[in-house]
Amino acid sequence: MFSYRHAFHAGNHADVLKHTTLIALMKYLTQKDTALTVIDTHAGAGLYRLDGDYTETSGEAQEGIFRLLSPQNSEPTAAPAQAQRGQAATKTVAKSAAKPAATPAGWAPALQDYIDLLRGLNPQFAETGDLAHLKIYPGSPFIEQQFLSGRDKLKLFELHPTDFKSLSGNIEQLGVGRQVAVAREDGFEALKTFLPPPARRAMVLCDPSYEMKSDYGRVATCMADALKRFATGTYVVWYPIIPRPEAHDLPRKLKTLAVKSSRSWLNAALTVKSSKLTTDDSGDVVRPGLPASGMFVINPPHTLKAELQAALPQMVALLGQDRNAGFTLEHGG
Ligand code: SAM
Repeated sequence: MFSYRHAFHAGNHADVLKHTTLIALMKYLTQKDTALTVIDTHAGAGLYRLDGDYTETSGEAQEGIFRLLSPQNSEPTAAPAQAQRGQAATKTVAKSAAKPAATPAGWAPALQDYIDLLRGLNPQFAETGDLAHLKIYPGSPFIEQQFLSGRDKLKLFELHPTDFKSLSGNIEQLGVGRQVAVAREDGFEALKTFLPPPARRAMVLCDPSYEMKSDYGRVATCMADALKRFATGTYVVWYPIIPRPEAHDLPRKLKTLAVKSSRSWLNAALTVKSSKLTTDDSGDVVRPGLPASGMFVINPPHTLKAELQAALPQMVALLGQDRNAGFTLEHGG
């Protein structure tokens, strides 16, 4: 059960989509005066080293955050229109070989906020722009925590014993006391006990590893239950886009759930490469790794669509690896 460790995947293209969206959500939702309860049902370790054994072994961050911030991509422009229809986007032409991450004028605001957050955690990278100094990558708990004000609360759930220990240690170092609670519990079940939240404002991130096939069904059931308990919460689900029926069905199920509950919804998907198996020179089958992923949001803030509309073409242009790269952005309600 516990073979998944997010450290292998930290900073990959799915994290770029997930965390850019999460930042846009947190930024908007923490602007109001009423307290917000943030519940992260599958928190992970909280912080990751990009130069650590795990990340270096898998190299997934190379196809994600490092590719996004590669000096060749230092001043992105929006991807051409065909990328929005799911076709290949032309990569941005290099403008400078050794510049710090892109200028505010070049990045979509949501991506700029994401990069600023990374720069805040990596001062030497912020100073020099040298990707060799981009060493710390924030997981969802650290991103969420950065936006909280004194009245807000953050509840984190993580089942893996090692990741739970790392998460607890990482959160303790922040010295934020009882504002952030960490528990080694099943996040799907624990969510029930926090809804509705005291001030009737909540954002829930549900980001399982989908290591077990049953996770797909549990996400749908958990969201249905959460909506019954607290219909006006903002519910955010990350899902992989892979050739597997359960994965294919999940966004459809979430859409049906939102529509039946008369809730607004938004579904953003980013594809960076083909999902087809290939063969290498020696005839061995090469698996492509995760080709695409999506974020499904129930009750999204009205600002989210425009934020992603601006950021997704840049993600496609910078992270796209072949002509299958593209994005979709649907919404309703
Ligand atoms: N949300 C994190 C982020 O964006 O940085 C990444 C989370 S990772 C994709 C999923 C995590 O859920 C793993 O660390 C895994 O150990 C944990 N996990 C798996 N099943 C769980 C469950 N039922 N309840 C809580 N955590 C679980």
